[in-house]
Amino acid sequence: MKRELECIVVAAALACAAGPAAAWSNHTLGARPALEAMPEIKAAPAVKVETLDTFLAAEARGLEQLLQREEAWARANVPLYPARPDALTFRAGGTPAELRQRFIAALRINPEMKLNLFVQALPGENVSGKATLPWTEITTRRRASTAQDGVFLQLRAGDLVAPLEVIATASDEPDYGMDIGLWDDNGTAYGKAYGFGKQPFGNPALEFASQAPFHMGFFHESAIVYKAAGFLRRTYPEYRIHLWQSLAAYALQTGHPYWGWRFAGWALHYIEDLTQPYHATVLPGVGVARMLWVNTIDLLGWHEPKKQAITLVSNRHLSLENYQYQRMRNAYVGHRAGDALIQAVKDTRADAGRDSFADDAARAVVSRESNALAGGTDRVLEQSLPPKYVSDPAYVLGETEPGLDLYGVVNKSPPAVQEAMTGMVAGLLRNFGAHTRAFVRSLLARSKQDPRR
Ligand SMILES: [Zn+2]
Repeated sequence: MKRELECIVVAAALACAAGPAAAWSNHTLGARPALEAMPEIKAAPAVKVETLDTFLAAEARGLEQLLQREEAWARANVPLYPARPDALTFRAGGTPAELRQRFIAALRINPEMKLNLFVQALPGENVSGKATLPWTEITTRRRASTAQDGVFLQLRAGDLVAPLEVIATASDEPDYGMDIGLWDDNGTAYGKAYGFGKQPFGNPALEFASQAPFHMGFFHESAIVYKAAGFLRRTYPEYRIHLWQSLAAYALQTGHPYWGWRFAGWALHYIEDLTQPYHATVLPGVGVARMLWVNTIDLLGWHEPKKQAITLVSNRHLSLENYQYQRMRNAYVGHRAGDALIQAVKDTRADAGRDSFADDAARAVVSRESNALAGGTDRVLEQSLPPKYVSDPAYVLGETEPGLDLYGVVNKSPPAVQEAMTGMVAGLLRNFGAHTRAFVRSLLARSKQDPRR
């Protein structure tokens, strides 16, 4: 039975990761109002835009040491961490192109990322007269990405930009291909060099599935699930968060606030992903007993229930993100800042005492919280949305109906249904906002410290 349980878990994780959305769809739409609620960020003076090459040329020596300390931290603290090969150690010196290439290799990110200078405009924002960059300059992804709906305003070195815009923009950037193709079996030259090993779950040939083990954190499954599928322990958002957090603090401490806030946004992305219950739980709404039963009958030759369970979990995962994205986008276009989801993300009532972001917070706080909400989230989706989207295994969300707008669908439902969806999603986004602010607050405190600490 072990292999079969393994299969369902693999397939479910794959299904979750292969869809058109990436946890919260477009993090900028949530991070921006979350941070607008922080006066120290909202009123922060504009900072000077700097290219990555300028930052690296100025700080190469310090970054050598920082990245060494970071690697030592990850080896000591991240469970099942795949150590970075020594050949990728960052060294100062050489041409700007060599420095940049070595930095990207030491971070083990997709070298096709252009890391251009830009901010994302909000939907409905008046951008007439401003220079824009096409989405192909922003993301390496060519399919199924909400970046294709985005408007990106070009920045140039020396421009002044608000930290709020830098962080909010950067919080969506890890979904632009940064963590794609990094595994040994992804068929990329860099994947072969990076030392992460084989992709733990999902189809290694599918572009988007390869980022999932960095953007999901399965830290709170039952012992029997880990026993059958040990590879589920190989999820690494903690490695990414700590790396970007350390780089952010260092850049802020050494007078490079543009890169400080950009790295901060990258760290926020993974923290925010973990507030999405389908990113912190393998199969929300499916008990272990049912998983075993489905696999037993699968073993006896009746495969349909297993396939159905996987499609349903994937459809619910994607329906949550579709509703959140369409509703927030709609609120921005209509200039309705009073929308319940935008208000939820701005809600600071639970912020008191949340001014630190400890090394174990992603595991012990953020994902624990959303994992505990997974069953309830799944139930609300099942009971609120028309059965076609959440209870019909013949329907594949995102494929059967391109351009689906579940916010529009819910708007035509009875008031009680609308309230249930609003309440559930607003609850999750309240956590999104609170953790976003806690992280930024902790970074503000660190930015005043000596860079060697
Ligand atoms: Zn993500």
